[in-house]
Amino acid sequence: MSSTPTGPVVTDSGTVVRDGAFGNARALSCRECGHQVPLGPHYACPECFGPLEIAYDFPAVTREQIAAGPRNIWRYKALLPVPDDIESSPNTEPGFTRLLQARNLGAALGIDTLWVKDDSTNPTNSFKDRVVACALSAAREFHAKVFACPSTGNLANAVAAAGARAGIKTVVLIPADLEKPKQVNSAVYTDSLVAVEGNYDDVNRLASEIAGEEEGWAFVNVNVRPYYAEGSKTLGFEIAEQLGWRLPDQVVIPVASGSQLTKVDKAFRELVALGLVEDKPYRIFGAQAEGCSPVAAAFREGHEVVRPVKPDTIAKSLAIGNPADGVYVLDVCRRTGGAVESVTDDEIREGILLLARNEGIFTETAGGTTTAVLRKLVETGQLDPTLETVIINTGMGLKTLDAVADSVGAAATIEPSYDAFTAAGIV
Ligand SMILES: *Cc1c(COP(=O)(O)O)cnc(C)c1O
Ligand SMILES: [Zn+2]
Repeated sequence: MSSTPTGPVVTDSGTVVRDGAFGNARALSCRECGHQVPLGPHYACPECFGPLEIAYDFPAVTREQIAAGPRNIWRYKALLPVPDDIESSPNTEPGFTRLLQARNLGAALGIDTLWVKDDSTNPTNSFKDRVVACALSAAREFHAKVFACPSTGNLANAVAAAGARAGIKTVVLIPADLEKPKQVNSAVYTDSLVAVEGNYDDVNRLASEIAGEEEGWAFVNVNVRPYYAEGSKTLGFEIAEQLGWRLPDQVVIPVASGSQLTKVDKAFRELVALGLVEDKPYRIFGAQAEGCSPVAAAFREGHEVVRPVKPDTIAKSLAIGNPADGVYVLDVCRRTGGAVESVTDDEIREGILLLARNEGIFTETAGGTTTAVLRKLVETGQLDPTLETVIINTGMGLKTLDAVADSVGAAATIEPSYDAFTAAGIV
């Protein structure tokens, strides 16, 4: 895929990176103009400032080689920018989460075959452990002193935990109004939790400024973003492998920055290119909360650009008003015949209960968004209920308890007697 020579990488600061540090990755390639630069701690194209993405020279990879790997994301290490000995470095080893057939939810919504890819069971209970594992590998190769992120919550949890396990200093920046459980979930792993008085987009701007000023800081989703983003491909790889090495017809994915959605598409295309799955049409759908739906709005209005918004929604993990990969989400959803839809906060709460009461899965507000969007896509005829469909549950409901605390019935409080029990009218 590229002609950039292999060999040790010398970064701007003169750091020498090991030969093979990035496995089969060969260069960073600009998504806008195709210009290539050597692998290093770069994220913007020197020619046009477009985002950089990893390009590979893949060797022949077989299903058997992958199946023989560990039951975590490193089974796909040949398809990621990580060294061959990645398993020997301390990491949280996320991935290979369950793909559950959702018969009850499918029946409730009139969908013939529905699956839930349940990423709430990752080490810190969200899909962010996948991207952070890849970012940590890159940060280590770049000899970073500090492992950091601006976060809407889950990323902070994943960075703080992975840094603790790897023995590298972490600093995580969050919006000050973040849900308390997500704050505590970071603070247990790090004493450098910084609450910024502003929204995520303000936090992100501050992180970029720090990254420009300080030497040796790896901001996972800023200056090592190309490496970070590749971690989301493992969701696509796993879905295909767990379906018996084939692609689903339709996938519904929540959209914050839009990185995950575009990388699931990249994963499917790489599997086809490598001959690991048969080529077939598939549709990718994006899910947003109405209170932060810049990509859904652009999709609906047929725009090529995404106009930033000021977020106001209970789905705080999706509350990015100026999504870095928004235009690429539009590209993927339009190219594959999918769509980007949004739902209200009330629909998000209903979505959480819909998944919980039909499948026994307690998702956070992001998953409530995805489930509610799934329902809306069926109701509006945008999603074909006769085609095999996968939704991704990206996070865990215990982190956003308050979102549904008032939507569920209170416990019936009774005296400890059988009379009181029968009087309570439970049965
Ligand atoms: C971060 C996050 C997303 C969205 O990820 P992007 O790649 O930024 O679009 C979805 N769900 C949850 C739970 C998240 O934490
Ligand atoms: Zn460029």
